[in-house]
Amino acid sequence: MEVTLIHLTAAKRHRFAAAIAATVLICAALFVWPHAKAQAIVVQPFMPIFATSVTLTAALTAFLLWTQYRASRRFVFAVLASAYAFASISAAIHLIVFPGVFSGTGLLGAGRQTSIWIWLLWHGGFPLLVTLALAARWRPPIDARSEHRRGALAIVASVSLSIALSALAIVAHDRLPDLVSSTQYYRHLTPGPALLIVEAVCAGALVTHAMVTRLKTSMDLWLAIALLAELIDVTLTLAAGARYSVGWYAARLASMASASALLGMLMYETSGLYRKLAEAHRALKESSVRDGLTGLLNRAYFDERYRREFALAAESDRPLGVLLVDVDHFKAYNDAFGHLAGDECLRRVAQTLDAQLRYPAGFIARYGGEEFMAVLPDCDRQTGLAIAERLRRAIADLQLPAPSKNSPYVTVSIGHASSQFLCGARPQALLAHADAALYRAKAGGRNRVEDQNGARVPMPSGSQTTTDSSEAMHSRVES
Ligand code: GH3
Ligand code: MG
Ligand code: MG
Repeated sequence: MEVTLIHLTAAKRHRFAAAIAATVLICAALFVWPHAKAQAIVVQPFMPIFATSVTLTAALTAFLLWTQYRASRRFVFAVLASAYAFASISAAIHLIVFPGVFSGTGLLGAGRQTSIWIWLLWHGGFPLLVTLALAARWRPPIDARSEHRRGALAIVASVSLSIALSALAIVAHDRLPDLVSSTQYYRHLTPGPALLIVEAVCAGALVTHAMVTRLKTSMDLWLAIALLAELIDVTLTLAAGARYSVGWYAARLASMASASALLGMLMYETSGLYRKLAEAHRALKESSVRDGLTGLLNRAYFDERYRREFALAAESDRPLGVLLVDVDHFKAYNDAFGHLAGDECLRRVAQTLDAQLRYPAGFIARYGGEEFMAVLPDCDRQTGLAIAERLRRAIADLQLPAPSKNSPYVTVSIGHASSQFLCGARPQALLAHADAALYRAKAGGRNRVEDQNGARVPMPSGSQTTTDSSEAMHSRVES
């Protein structure tokens, strides 16, 4: 199933957080409203701080949306990234041409109407682009070859649009309808139809977004918050009627909230996705080394780890022990009880061996059908044989009924070998010694432990064994 930000339904706590953000924004706007026109002092650094923060947060949001687009190949993310790129560029140009920041009337040959018109184009263009993204919302993923080109085209188009509109506002500043009076450092704003149109565009975009998306996902919710903040920004600017008034300052703060609303959500979701990805990777890695039937480590893991342990033991001149465990008469078990019961029996045997190994530095893996291999790093012969005997006894103590007339319960035979007695041997030689020891355990009557040099661990009294060595040898040859 596809998992992208347009598919993940918002959890309750995310809805709650978005509801709180919306409430705070609306309450703050209502609180400011009666004082909107009150003139405040001119804080010169405010405008650069505000515009820089909006430029950066919108650019970061655009970048994160772009990464979402690259991962999902859903064009909707490219359009949203374009909307934020548009906002980012517009905010930067707005700062450059703003009167009194870098020069009296603004840089780039701006006139007194330039900055307000760029602000208007920015606040009209952003919600329109977000609304445009709705049309791309359910389009299937773009094919991988054209993905990069089409997404890049959308970004380039929006950035070009922002630059072109700004250039127009600079070049045609003396022909644009007056929105700013020339008195008092171009502070006074005259609400004209253009401002009201932008207000209507913001309101329309918010309502359309809420109706089409039904605010199902976290991304929908926080985009709605961004559009709401944008609407509040325009409304308060209209109500304020002058720059550096209480309403104007509050509107700029709303604008900052609008630019960063989605960024917060994207950062939260992205870090969550990284965590889930790391967990999935860990689980996948873990399952790839496990045997499907018994849950023990599998042969591939054994082969890789055994080589490492062998090399380490040879390097450090420490003994490496191996135990080859084989279930006795298992073919007969399958023949008598069926393969499903055989599988269950193997599971029980495997779990018991795993639980009884009790050697933290070592591990046990399923080596073949009904054969298991325990690897015991830094383990001398005596300890290795003691562990082997513990394993043999633990399986016998399970008292799993066996069909054999020789033993009423399922038993295992174990061959032990230690690198302690092999000078300069290769990894396979140690395994061959364990196999030879197992062979002798089978030939000697099964349900026993044999060492590589032929020393058998004494059988405890009451243990059932077979004595038919020819049958045992035959079995080993078969297996
Ligand atoms: P021995 O005491 O000499 O080891 O006799 P054995 O019957 O255990 O040895 P043999 O190699 O002849 O038979 C091994 C049997 O293990 C044959 C095969 O059907 C069974 N076996 C191997 N893997 C599985 C498995 O995953 N599930 C089940 N149910 N049986 C398996
Ligand atoms: Mg067997
Ligand atoms: Mg076998």
